Amino acid sequence: MAKRDYYEVLGVGRSADEGEIKKAYRKLAIKYHPDKNPGDASAEDKFKEAAEAYEVLSDTQKRRQYDQFGHAGARGAGGFGGGQSMNMDDIFSQFGDIFGGAFGGGGGFGGGGGRGRARQVKGTNLRIKVKLTLEEIAAGVQKKVKVLKLVPADGVDFTDCGTCGGVGQVRRVTNTFLGQMQTTGTCPTCNGTGKSIRNKPKDTDEYGMRRQEEVVTINIPAGVEDGMQLSMAGYGNSAPFGGINGDLLVVIEEVEHDVLKRNGKNLHYDLYINFADAALGANTEVPLIDGRAKIKIDPGTQSGKIVRLKGKGLPAVDSYGNGDLLVNINVWTPQKLSNEEQALLEKLREADNFKPNPSYRDKGFFQKVKEMFT
Ligand SMILES: [Zn+2]
Repeated sequence: MAKRDYYEVLGVGRSADEGEIKKAYRKLAIKYHPDKNPGDASAEDKFKEAAEAYEVLSDTQKRRQYDQFGHAGARGAGGFGGGQSMNMDDIFSQFGDIFGGAFGGGGGFGGGGGRGRARQVKGTNLRIKVKLTLEEIAAGVQKKVKVLKLVPADGVDFTDCGTCGGVGQVRRVTNTFLGQMQTTGTCPTCNGTGKSIRNKPKDTDEYGMRRQEEVVTINIPAGVEDGMQLSMAGYGNSAPFGGINGDLLVVIEEVEHDVLKRNGKNLHYDLYINFADAALGANTEVPLIDGRAKIKIDPGTQSGKIVRLKGKGLPAVDSYGNGDLLVNINVWTPQKLSNEEQALLEKLREADNFKPNPSYRDKGFFQKVKEMFT
């Protein structure tokens, strides 16, 4: 089944702010909570769907990626990440920030779902840069990269933390003027992981982890831009004690093309033609990302004319259709002349047809481009 749009799931607009998103999710989470709808599978699906939408839209970076790439960028499909959906533990662990602690951890709704266990430890993210040529961007490309990531070493042996008994949290009872108050805090011995190391190899860190080189294959979709960041869920550092892996963040770096300049999904090329071709008309060629295209110069072409080659730009990463190649025509003025050429031009200099039309005004590049697209 195709995934619904996350904004649609939460019933908020694309420009909704953090507060609106939180409020919308809170309403849905209460409505579809499993404890309120025992045995109702469709309520559970809705509950999970809302949690997933909230997980993405409440995270600035994930949301930006979702806005750019859709579901493919946010998680799962399209070559990124592992593609697993959220489990109930993940969902309940979200509740800490959404319900201000009331439903987080052990409190609040009872039953089901595994609440009250130690929070799952997450590995840290890794970030790498990938340089791409315009040719690679146009076609989409698979890259193999080496990453140095933290992995658990063989021979690490751990057990439940003795202080908190594996819960990761400790209760403290304090006396206040209102009477006894019970508070819950992160276990200081295990930092909330609920585990402690029994044995580990010598050359590992405090959690029995070490750095190891790994080759990762990244599928980069066509149309990405310089500075974009793709996230591969689960390809970052491993977490200690069998927790969730961090993500691998892939930052795109675009290598400038020799002659084609990029503006979003459109490409721009400066073509120089000689004066005779401009006056008489001609057939010539322009370079494309993959090959060349013929273009026709009309007789009487002015310098500054823009010819649009539809669909010869780059594919759009977030939607269908290609951009265009905009060919900016420039008339080349000779910089050296033979005596004969000079004599010919001297004759033409005074010709009526060679005088510029005083009422002619070039619209300028930006105006012309604007008119082309409206
Ligand atoms: Zn502990």
